[in-house]
Amino acid sequence: MYRKSIAPGIVVFGEGAPADCAYIIERGSVEIAIERDGRLVVLAALGPGEIFGEAALIDDDLRPATATARTELDVLVVPRDAIGESLRASQPDIYSLVTSLLMRLQAVHDRRASPPVAGAMRDDVVRTLTIEGELRQGLDNDEFEPFFQPIVDLDTGEIAGFEALARWRKPDRGLIPPIEFIGVAEQTGLIREIDAVVLASAWKSLASAQEAVAGKKGRSTKPLFLSINIAAENFVDMQLVANVRKLLGTAGFDPSLLKLEITESGLINSPEIAYRVLTELRSLGVSIALDDFGTGYSSLSYLHRFPIDSLKIDRTFVNALASSDRSRAIVRTIVGLGQSMSLKVIAEGIEEESTADMLREMGLQYGQGYHYSMPVGRASMQQMLLG
Ligand code: C2E
Ligand code: CA
Ligand code: CA
Ligand code: CA
Repeated sequence: MYRKSIAPGIVVFGEGAPADCAYIIERGSVEIAIERDGRLVVLAALGPGEIFGEAALIDDDLRPATATARTELDVLVVPRDAIGESLRASQPDIYSLVTSLLMRLQAVHDRRASPPVAGAMRDDVVRTLTIEGELRQGLDNDEFEPFFQPIVDLDTGEIAGFEALARWRKPDRGLIPPIEFIGVAEQTGLIREIDAVVLASAWKSLASAQEAVAGKKGRSTKPLFLSINIAAENFVDMQLVANVRKLLGTAGFDPSLLKLEITESGLINSPEIAYRVLTELRSLGVSIALDDFGTGYSSLSYLHRFPIDSLKIDRTFVNALASSDRSRAIVRTIVGLGQSMSLKVIAEGIEEESTADMLREMGLQYGQGYHYSMPVGRASMQQMLLG
């Protein structure tokens, strides 16, 4: 077994290529896709801890799909030969355990293999349709709500604002995290409605929480900013601008306290409209943050072309600060970039005090992460402000 780093966009293996090893993802993500009727169909996106190309461990069929690094990727490469060798050299009970696990894997693999892709795709379509129906119903029944994660001033430790993160409170299932519904919501365009609901509701909750806290403390408190995630699908027309304008009009809040977090994918598909939307938003006084910064393809050209005023350093770099020279170099570079372009820089995914210390030393101003708090509901958010 050995480690390998792969740059974003690089094909780890292609459909139809010979196969002699499996991969375990240590960091980053991989997209598994197949070509059908001249189109690339994405089957899955895999992340840290997940394994891919594992069929190569049990037979020497050709790769059934293409695997592409979506981000900077660190993998452990597991060659089939190495497994065989170390197995033969291992204790008999380990040998029989691993052999039977591999046989079970083989059985699952064979069952899937007929017909390999059609089955998986049909399941996918059924799943998408089911979730789509439930999402529509959820929107009708007001089942979406924001959770709030504090964004902290690293120097003072005080809460500077909150990021709103969508949760789906589904009566028969409880709270559902975005990973389970954002994908389908994006594919169906329903994400636009969800984003609008989260925006309006989070803005209202934060305002009334601050009012309540000021009342209890007998004085007004420092106004907090609100960060909202805006999916790429919102950058096809001016609806988002209309929503934001309406919100600012009715609520009468300071627009500079509203920060919209966008990702590069929102800018790639229709850059002209995205440019118009962002320019309009900026003219309303709203600020724009580039989310997951460092994981995309050409961040720098977007910084140059679009009216962006904050960067959020992706948590994969933040998490690896203590252990990886490269992550430290990347974070330093982003901080420097932010300083020279007068951009605010926010680090996400801070899980340890030591990481916060390092970031502070590097000159970072804002951070968020489990070290400070997980995302919480409205009532706990208000409680947090009182404490
Ligand atoms: P994101 O915008 O990158 O949000 C940060 C995610 O990291 C959140 O996951 C948050 O709970 C999690 N996180 C925060 N601190 C830590 C930490 O210290 N360690 C780790 N491991 N994770 C941390 P969540 O809430 O599950 O949201 C996942 C993604 O879903 C978000 O990633 C965002 O891309 C998307 N999303 C969430 N809410 C909305 C929404 O209202 N609209 C849209 N369009 N997308 C949303
Ligand atoms: Ca975000
Ligand atoms: Ca992020
Ligand atoms: Ca993200």
